[in-house]
Amino acid sequence: MEIIIADNAGFCFGVKRAVDITSDELLSANKDIYSLGPLIHNSQAVKKFEEKGLKTIDNIEGIQDSRIIIRSHGVSKSVIDKINKMNLDIIDSTCPYVKSVHKRVEEYQDQGYNIVIIGDPDHPEVIGINGWCNDKAFIVNSLEEATNLPRMDKICVVSQTTNTQEKFETISKLINEKGNEVKIFNTICNATNIRQESCKEVASKVDAMIVIGGYHSSNTNKLVEISKKYCNNVYHIETSKELPLQMLSKFNKIGITAGASTPDWIIKEVVEIMDNINNNEMMEAIENSFTRIHRGDVLKGEVIYVTN
Ligand code: SF4
Repeated sequence: MEIIIADNAGFCFGVKRAVDITSDELLSANKDIYSLGPLIHNSQAVKKFEEKGLKTIDNIEGIQDSRIIIRSHGVSKSVIDKINKMNLDIIDSTCPYVKSVHKRVEEYQDQGYNIVIIGDPDHPEVIGINGWCNDKAFIVNSLEEATNLPRMDKICVVSQTTNTQEKFETISKLINEKGNEVKIFNTICNATNIRQESCKEVASKVDAMIVIGGYHSSNTNKLVEISKKYCNNVYHIETSKELPLQMLSKFNKIGITAGASTPDWIIKEVVEIMDNINNNEMMEAIENSFTRIHRGDVLKGEVIYVTN
């Protein structure tokens, strides 16, 4: 069995930065520390943070004399204003790429543009971006929704940072026809591009693809979507415990990638279990898969290695 691991799998710059900032803050125990929403879209990693003292909350009502972590997705301007008003300490780990989208929609709205966000209206990043243009953006997530947009004079288009290029291009092309003056900003971040490209490359040459990451993680779900386009057998798992080992044993070439909020230790576990699988060892691997000891670093890069 050959295992191919996609380049750039795992934490992106923004998520790593949020995780590092939070880890540093947890070392100083001067005030309670709350994360507004799960710190990252990975329940295993969030659980580890909670064991170290991080509390996850949905809103800041009733919180006093504490530190509030703003996660990498960012929040709306009104949330920042409210935290300041309540005299709570803000630990802002909004990804700088997301911040630049906030700045852009705020500036363009001030100049009289209607803002259109291409993205999932329920995703916290999109809700946060909308909150920097007074919650007045048109949010479109499909060609149909873009078709239904009204005709407008000035339009500024931005994207959720984790969209696929293909989706952004087809939808923005349609929106371009909807206004007299249309500014289109491709705000898909480079980390997303790189991960999606290497996922595509690996998925197109394997028999089965394993995508590791939270079920609620938007960028992981995009990797699943891309993998399905290029490979007939795609398995989305959150942890190594969910590896369908018996099923995987049928394949000769298996690709592995991971979303931007998947911690290295989870990737390591999966890689190690897969590394030790071959047809003869299958049953043993299944029995031992929950108790293996980590060994070696996460393997990154094109290939990889072969077990047979
Ligand atoms: Fe930042 Fe990109 Fe990561 Fe989003 S995917 S947190 S924009 S680096």
